Amino acid sequence: MKVRVGMGFDVHRLVEGRELWLGGIRIEHRLGLLGHSDADVLIHALCDALLGAANLRDIGYHFPDTKGEYKNIDSKILLRETMSLVRAKGYELGNADITVCAERPKLNPHIPAMRQCLAEVMGVDADDVSIKATTTEKLGFTGREEGISAYAVVLLQKL
Ligand code: MG
Repeated sequence: MKVRVGMGFDVHRLVEGRELWLGGIRIEHRLGLLGHSDADVLIHALCDALLGAANLRDIGYHFPDTKGEYKNIDSKILLRETMSLVRAKGYELGNADITVCAERPKLNPHIPAMRQCLAEVMGVDADDVSIKATTTEKLGFTGREEGISAYAVVLLQKL
């Protein structure tokens, strides 16, 4: 069995007048993430980790933000397409481990719903998708609530 590891990282700016989408679900908050798509930073980091593990370039290569068809797109669609690319190369998810850095809102109550949502989109067991939330102790752009960042590590296996 061949195993490959991949990592992904993403940042989006927090602004007024946008919905906050994280881990495929909408979270009530006075600010939302700005981006060409729905700006789901957690999913974008996960997609890049998956693509990296399969050596399939990055999310911007496959879903360019210059293309009108991706304007305000639901990032779950990008994740589903990413999993198709990964499976077309013969790989299946071993596990994913994701860390989201946000000062606010508190994300811990939403983690079970996010895990369930992402597992369904990816067609994997929810036990293979770990999501962790942290703050940066009020330091940096996440600490000042100017943005949210996410890191993802995945393991792919080819049976
Ligand atoms: Mg992004």
